[in-house]
Order: sequence, then C-alpha cells, then structure tokens
Amino acid sequence: MTAPAKAPIGLMSAMHEELALVLQAMPDEQRVRVGGRDFWQGHWQGWPVVAVLSRIGKVAAATTATALIERFGVDRIVFTGVAGGIGPGVRVGDVVLASHFVQHDMDASPLFPRHEVPLYGRSRFVTDADLSAGLARAAQAVLAQVSTHVGPAAMTEFGLHTSRLHTGLVASGDRFVSTTAESRALQQALPDALAVEMEGAAVAQVCADYGVPFAALRTISDRADDEAHADFNRFIRDVASRYSLAMLSAWLQKQQ
Ligand code: SAH
Repeated sequence: MTAPAKAPIGLMSAMHEELALVLQAMPDEQRVRVGGRDFWQGHWQGWPVVAVLSRIGKVAAATTATALIERFGVDRIVFTGVAGGIGPGVRVGDVVLASHFVQHDMDASPLFPRHEVPLYGRSRFVTDADLSAGLARAAQAVLAQVSTHVGPAAMTEFGLHTSRLHTGLVASGDRFVSTTAESRALQQALPDALAVEMEGAAVAQVCADYGVPFAALRTISDRADDEAHADFNRFIRDVASRYSLAMLSAWLQKQQ
C-alpha cells in the first residue's frame, strides 16, 4: 500500500525579491495563476510546497492565504519577509519570530476596544507553537553562522555579526512606518510589539478561521524611523532573502 500523499506546505512572502531564491531552489516548480497571483507548485527538500508572492498589505495577504488553503490544500503556512524593528534592542539584521499578531490600524472604538477585531472578541492572533519552535531552531542555526549565507560586505555594512532572534508580538497595518514619530506612537500604543509589517496579522486571522497552523519569521530591514527607506531593496536582496532561503531550507530538512 502506498502512503497517502502529503499535503503541500504553503510558503508566502510579500515581495518578489524575497521569493526569488526559494523559487530557484525548487527543481520542478510549475506556475498556476489564481486571482492575479502566481502560485508555484513543486518540491523542495522532498516536500511538496506551494510558494507564493502575496504582494503588499493586509487584503492581498488575506486573499492569498485563502487561496493557498482553499485551492491548493496547504496544511500549514510559513511567512518569511522583512519588517521594521520597533521593540527595544530589535536591530537591523535581527530576526523576529512572531508569537502572535495584532492589527495596529484596527480601531472600531467606541463600539469595540481599540485593536479588537470586531466580532472575534480579541485583538491578538497566536501563531502555531510547534511550527514556530521548529522555525526558531532553524533561525538560531542560521544566525549562528551568518557568514556562510551572506557576503562579507553585507556582513560589515549591516553589522550582522551580532544578529539575534527575538520572539514576540508583531504588529501589522496598511502603512509603511517610516517616521520616528509614527514609530514612537506605535511603541506607546503597543509596548510589547517587537516589529511592524503589513501582512502577518491578516494571514494569522485567515489561518485561525480555517484552523491551519501558521508561523512567521521576519528579518528586520529598518527601524521604522526617518531612515526606514534607506537601502531597503538592497538589504532584501543581500541579506533578508538569503536568511529566508537558509532558514526555510534548514527547517524543511528537519520536517517529518
Ligand atoms: N520599498 C518597497 C515597498 C516596501 S513596503 C517597494 O518599493 O516595493 C514594505 C514591505 O516590507 C511590506 O511588505 C512590509 O510587510 C515590510 N516592512 C518592512 N519594514 C516596514 C515598516 N517600517 N513598516 C511597515 N512595513 C514594513
């Protein structure tokens, strides 16, 4: 008797530069276009995977996650990408593993408390503990040997010698946070948030709705302040996309 086919794993990123190295690593990827998105079906490290670029923002991320689940039958989703660091000590080149997500721009007050998603009775959506634990081990292994994944110039330029893994709250919203004033306001509203980005909370909500395990790793590309736009694309190409490739690859090798 043959074993039942494994359900595919969904791999999501927001931007093309993030996904490019993962696609190069898949030997047999086939493109399927659904809802204006390219879904790449194939195998990696012996696992069936569907890799997709969600594009930027919560709506794009939510519809992409829904298609991954409904159309491609993924049994878990892992998001990798970049984020702005807002927690103390969360620096460029560090990696944040989301323990839970909040939509920092959700505000239906006074009908519901600020940040609460109306009719869900909560503002925070947890990620999957087992999936996150496996990704944390992979991330630690990569951060312990950054120089095998990133070139020496980027190591020096972005000060990657002391990169750390942080685990905690990540805030998502439909805004690129790029002023010190806005970053401070976020820190005050959500003092335990480590990082800010534009997709994760939407994927977390969809995955909660469907009961699909979800985890997210974000490399810190900026401090969400007045310099947030500097070298953004180069950082993704030279650092974040390489971290993602190495972390996802290390994680998949250990999957059973
Ligand atoms: N410069 C890019 C735009 C990136 S938008 C371009 O020209 O295409 C920012 C993307 O990175 C989003 O997908 C978001 O999730 C993440 N991100 C990184 N830093 C962020 C910040 N400071 N605020 C919000 N999102 C951030």
